[in-house]
Amino acid sequence: MSASPKPLKNIRVRFAPSPTGPLHMGGVRTALFNYLFAKKYGGRFILRIEDTDPQRSKKEWENDLLKSLEWLGILWDEGPCPSFILEKSRGIADSSSYIGDYGPYRQSERKEVYVKYLKRLVEEEKAYYCFCSKEELEAYKEYLMSIGQPPIYQGRCRNLSKEKVNAYLRQKRPFVIRFKTPSAQKIIFEDLVRGKIEFDSSLLGDFVIAKDFYTPLYNFSCAVDDFEMGISHIIRGEEYISNTPKQILLQKALSFPQLEYAHLPLILGPDRKKLSKRHGAASISDWRNKGYLPKALINFIAFLGWNPGTEKETYSLSELIEDFSIEKIQKGGAIFDINKLDWLNGIYVRKKSADQVTQMCLPYLENAGLLGKTEKTIKSEEELLPVSCFLITKTGEEVSQDKIEKIISLYQERLRKFSDITSLIDFFFVESLEYEKGLLKWKNMSDRDTIKSLDKCYKILSKIKEQEFNKESIEKSLLKQAEKMQNRGYLLWPLRVALTGKQASAGPFEIAEILGKEKTLKRIKKAKEKIK
Ligand code: GLU
Repeated sequence: MSASPKPLKNIRVRFAPSPTGPLHMGGVRTALFNYLFAKKYGGRFILRIEDTDPQRSKKEWENDLLKSLEWLGILWDEGPCPSFILEKSRGIADSSSYIGDYGPYRQSERKEVYVKYLKRLVEEEKAYYCFCSKEELEAYKEYLMSIGQPPIYQGRCRNLSKEKVNAYLRQKRPFVIRFKTPSAQKIIFEDLVRGKIEFDSSLLGDFVIAKDFYTPLYNFSCAVDDFEMGISHIIRGEEYISNTPKQILLQKALSFPQLEYAHLPLILGPDRKKLSKRHGAASISDWRNKGYLPKALINFIAFLGWNPGTEKETYSLSELIEDFSIEKIQKGGAIFDINKLDWLNGIYVRKKSADQVTQMCLPYLENAGLLGKTEKTIKSEEELLPVSCFLITKTGEEVSQDKIEKIISLYQERLRKFSDITSLIDFFFVESLEYEKGLLKWKNMSDRDTIKSLDKCYKILSKIKEQEFNKESIEKSLLKQAEKMQNRGYLLWPLRVALTGKQASAGPFEIAEILGKEKTLKRIKKAKEKIK
């Protein structure tokens, strides 16, 4: 809210994840805001893989990152080669290839760049070798704390003579490289979200910038790459604010220009505590597997800390680009509300055609063991043709794609995410239903009333001819009877529960049509037996 950005030209922003785990909502939010900012101002969005930690970085996580971003439609202008380009390259590019003129975009492939700058800092005496052992550092830290001082390194190796350093190096003593933090300096930057932020350099101590010349640490490699890649703005999570003064000091020491910063608010659970797995810390592939749509996720994530201040609630990616502005990013924590995500996803599910929804639901039904695919042969004029069709796994009954689509369509309106489909429609695919008999009773109905009501339904439905057993005729005949009762519920509730075994479902007329006369009557009979 506070400061307005400088003229927005030549924008180059980056999303710089470390591939140490799957991509989560928080990471996507950072990627998305960078992407929107770049696209809004005709800039470039760069994906840089910060994989300098060989123990924790894994190719598998990098792949997950790339795949998730591609699936969400957050496409980078520069960075590792996206899979759709790889596929088209016919072997010319491979998974180590990249797009853009500032590569390589994986830090593990940029070691020569860091060595150059590290050497420069050491030569200019802005950084130094530190030979203190872990034990010494630990003991020193404890001592500082015991006398009430902040446990920061205060430069024991800062003033080692050249001779001593060389001697230690000859002895092959292990070392790290520390930055010579200028003492008692105010480091001030104007955050585009949070306004002026000040740090006192004496609280930083001489921080380690590299484990050795070929193993730079985050703050250093980040400062170098942001410069080398011509980055103009850093948009990242609030948890990185404490790194910013270190990066600014490094930029100054290396005579790099200072960048613009925008730190995004934390994402909190509904309890205002750190986001837990239950509330949304799941990975993007988890969300995808649960049956959330990329458009819904993008729409939802865009509002995690940003609000255009309009009534409009659904935004496409291009509308987001159009309306995005850093000024509308909030300072306070963003609350992760899964109900809102479900609601939004439901909107996007409803926009899909019945066929699309069916295709997206089928894998869930198969995984739940409700449906299986099978091949059968049909006789055409001259030959036997194999066609694939579906089997209801539990009953062995064959079912057409049309019928499945009809069933799923009954639920398209109420479907929030595709994985919900199994628990909504499982009753179509089983032989007998499990439910409490009490569920059959509407309000204060007695056992007798319920049996009477089911009997009525049975009689009415038996009279409908098999070929006319469709929603219209079922509805017409049942409603005729229902109108005679004080409330439709007395007739239709027990029937609906008898057919579905569920507290909530689609209406009994369409369900009865799909089940067919025989199954419908059988289920009514079973329900009656349950009460008796
Ligand atoms: N590599 C850092 C991370 O993923 C990102 C830091 C940054 O954006 O500066 O944690």
